[in-house]
Amino acid sequence: MFRRASTIYRRLRDLSVLGRSPWRHQSRSAPERALQYAVGQKIHGFTVTEVTAVPDLFLTAVKLSHDSTGARYLHAARDDKNNLFSVQFRTTPMDSTGVPHILEHTVLCGSERFPCRDPFFKMLNRSLSTFMNAFTASDYTMYPFSTLNAKDFQNLLSVYLDAVFFPCLRELDFWQEGWRLENEDPQDSSSPLVFKGVVFNEMKGAFSDNERVYGQHLQNKLLPDHTYAVVSGGEPLAIPDLTWEQLREFHRIHYHPSNARFFTYGDLPLEQHLKQIDEEALVRFQRTEPDTAVPAQKPWTTPREDHVTCSPDAMAPDPTKQNTLCVSYLLGDVTDVFESFVLSLLSSLMISGPNSPFYRSLIEPKIGSDFSSVVGYDGSTRQASFSIGLQGMSEADTERVKHIISDTIDDIITKGFEEERIEALLHKIEIQMKHQSSSFGLSLASYIASCWNHDGDPVQLLRISENVSLFRQKLLENPQLLQEKVQHYFKDNPHRLTLSMAPEEDYQQKQTEEEEAKLKHKIQQLSEDDRQQIYQKGLELLSVQSAVQDASCLPALKVSDIEPTIQHTPVQMGSAGGVPVQYCEQPTNGMVYFRALSSINTLPEDLKPYVPLFCSIITRMGCGQMDYRQQSQQMELRTGGMSVSPQVLPENTDMDMYEQGVLLTSSCLERNLPEMFNLWSEIFNSPHFDDEERLRVLVMMSAQELSNGISYSGHMYALSRAARSLTPAADLQETLSGMDQVKFMKRLAESSDLASVLRKLPRIKRHLLNPENMRCAVNATPQKMSTAAAETERFMGNVAGTRKERKAVRPHVTEKALNPLAAPGSSATRKLITEPNFQPCQMKTFYQMPFPVNFVSECVRTVPFIHQDYASLSILARLMTAKFLHGEIREKGGAYGGGARMGGGGVFSFYSYRDPNSMATLAAFRRGVDWARSGSFSQQDVDEAKLSVFSAVDAPVAPSAKGMGMFLSGVSDEMKQQHRERLFAVTHSSLVDVANRYLGLGQQTCAAAILGPENAAISNDPSWVVK
Ligand SMILES: [Zn+2]
Repeated sequence: MFRRASTIYRRLRDLSVLGRSPWRHQSRSAPERALQYAVGQKIHGFTVTEVTAVPDLFLTAVKLSHDSTGARYLHAARDDKNNLFSVQFRTTPMDSTGVPHILEHTVLCGSERFPCRDPFFKMLNRSLSTFMNAFTASDYTMYPFSTLNAKDFQNLLSVYLDAVFFPCLRELDFWQEGWRLENEDPQDSSSPLVFKGVVFNEMKGAFSDNERVYGQHLQNKLLPDHTYAVVSGGEPLAIPDLTWEQLREFHRIHYHPSNARFFTYGDLPLEQHLKQIDEEALVRFQRTEPDTAVPAQKPWTTPREDHVTCSPDAMAPDPTKQNTLCVSYLLGDVTDVFESFVLSLLSSLMISGPNSPFYRSLIEPKIGSDFSSVVGYDGSTRQASFSIGLQGMSEADTERVKHIISDTIDDIITKGFEEERIEALLHKIEIQMKHQSSSFGLSLASYIASCWNHDGDPVQLLRISENVSLFRQKLLENPQLLQEKVQHYFKDNPHRLTLSMAPEEDYQQKQTEEEEAKLKHKIQQLSEDDRQQIYQKGLELLSVQSAVQDASCLPALKVSDIEPTIQHTPVQMGSAGGVPVQYCEQPTNGMVYFRALSSINTLPEDLKPYVPLFCSIITRMGCGQMDYRQQSQQMELRTGGMSVSPQVLPENTDMDMYEQGVLLTSSCLERNLPEMFNLWSEIFNSPHFDDEERLRVLVMMSAQELSNGISYSGHMYALSRAARSLTPAADLQETLSGMDQVKFMKRLAESSDLASVLRKLPRIKRHLLNPENMRCAVNATPQKMSTAAAETERFMGNVAGTRKERKAVRPHVTEKALNPLAAPGSSATRKLITEPNFQPCQMKTFYQMPFPVNFVSECVRTVPFIHQDYASLSILARLMTAKFLHGEIREKGGAYGGGARMGGGGVFSFYSYRDPNSMATLAAFRRGVDWARSGSFSQQDVDEAKLSVFSAVDAPVAPSAKGMGMFLSGVSDEMKQQHRERLFAVTHSSLVDVANRYLGLGQQTCAAAILGPENAAISNDPSWVVK
């Protein structure tokens, strides 16, 4: 749980609003009630210091201060039932031992009132939380949770408060979560001593990501004077220098109310929160003066250059081009809210989209594969920074890139920005404020965290539209405003760093050698007595980890607290120009959401692997009279985004049946409906497929993105690979999004001739953008639905020329009504592929990768969603994860994570994430099955697994996403209700029964896949296919 620093702008992108529901009539809303607080008012040990209405976001902000400790508090009152709590501490380490990160893990291992092991993970199963997590950033540590249930909120608040303020911080917890020396086999004192520990392995995994390595170096070197010079998450080789005593001291100083910021959000009453926080925690403290502030970085008088190395990337699109080079500029203080706002806008104007100057000067000449992922505005440190540069470039281009960067800056100073681009960006901010996400509280908490951490005003940060108007006014007064900023912050700024990174052939080996040297050094200092102690401690840890755990001290909801029935989502079916349309009326706050699913049944098989590429380029090549720059501009000015993605939708009743298609997705403000549909019409009627150079840029960016994603999402790739031989849907999924697709894109990126690919695109388009094979969905407010329907009708009229009846390439297509209960005459059907000849088979695949940790998976073919046993298997997966696999794979095995889950499509999967083990983890999966079959779990365990499954089933759904289960997969409210009743009905014996019938060896077809470093055991085992 270590979060990489992200920029304010990126956070702003997530910032979206759950608007006032026009259907809920309350006498007084939460924001109205909060306006009644008066400055100076005393409430449960706190004093109100400010009350501000923020009408744009439909909330009232109440600021308070705790009288005896000085703890800061911000409450955002809003009519949203998904209430959130977060507490953040300013944690500013001065070494790279990862002390704040290890502390973040260790406080969650048990506390005064809740001394059981791991209350945090246990609460995941005793609550209906919609979010629970903890993050370590560069200079703060944050503990947020959210839930829809008031009782649950109080329970979780108690556990969180006790964890952060009164943790046990036992030595054993420190060993388990931080680092320890231990016999490789803890039960064998003659086995070699090795380093173990959750954070130790987590950080080894994190630094196997080259982009991450680069970003870390960049921050360390640009801000070298204080806390930003060290790795707050922990440098793997520095972690073993941390002692348990240092950890406790760090806690004593930093996790104090005087160094804390509390944030609550939602419609629950503030008084109750204040009372509980005061009584359960703050009342036991006296004010301190924690010296945790980060001083301003001393500005440089001359620019600096530096160089670092990384591991070669086996998946890089072009192996000879693996260098990264960026120039980073130190900007102003993030607490200057308006200046930061202007600089983040300026950053977007400089780098976002094909119309930006740096896209033109750096991306289009194809010097590198893409911008480096650090590019843009970064407001996660006390002083913000801006970086610009490329990844995937050749060393020979170094000087050229530096020149381009400085020339582009000169160019911007001379020419400025087009007014239309500024408008497009402000439109984007308007959409971000209107769009409603299901986790608004969490977005707010992370949006304000950095600025508030340095004593900036979080309320000012929320007044986004005031910042927008002020910006408009300043720009009107001084049209040169942005150019002057570029001159000041970039051209004339000597505090800038040029940092290059190149792969080093034996990088990985050197890391291993350094770790071995560190280990050797530690071992040399050990006496025989120490060794004996290490062995004893290893056994002790193992026995604690294996002991039956009593969690009865923890609060818990009961299964009877769960709503017995689902909330219905009414949808209406209609048609537009003969194409079926699903209408779903929702409080969308002035936005309209449009989707269309188009079948790919008629597409020739040889073109299938190109579908993801087609999807990623079709909205980015130009259309009609517009070249791709104009198209991009119009999309930004008129819509909240337009995209296309491949879909494999398993049938709910049959494992060997699925629907395949592409999904068109877009949104816009109500006033821009005609423009949004005009853009789609142009894409349907006259997309551009003539620019090979443009295609090459897009291919390279896609290939780079896929390659970068592997070390982060390795478990998804392992799961996809393992499942491919089990069902035909999973097989296609692997072709479209698994390792096969990564390799396919790599080949395309390496190929010198993309003309043949270009020629395929119009052929693909004829099949994919064909209204004959389509169905649409519209989510809008009831007031705007008829306008939206009329516009959809007009759109279908405009693209009627692209409609053509074609034959499916496979003979077995079954048509099924989308909603079997819909009124007769409704024409929406799913055209399902059946594969009567598909034979599931056992297969084990290993991908050797250049990173030091494994991603292990095993999949079992079970039953489809509608089957009687599906509910039991879903709960079994949660039960096994919480009560067995988590302990074996994370606590004992040292992996970052691991567990089991029941996936759509009827594949039951086991997985591990950033795992030092491979074969041992596969063995742990098997032991998990034996454990389940033996039935050695309690009714309480079953109830907890149910709560955990229900908290996922009942996770809040944003108005834009309502009705999508029905639209995509034909999952009706009736089916959901039936599934719900089956979940309630699951018993101890039905769990043992499904474990026996589906998961026992030889019961069902299963398959495995591992991504990881060189592995002798696998190479010597002929049952594995090594890739
Ligand atoms: Zn972590």
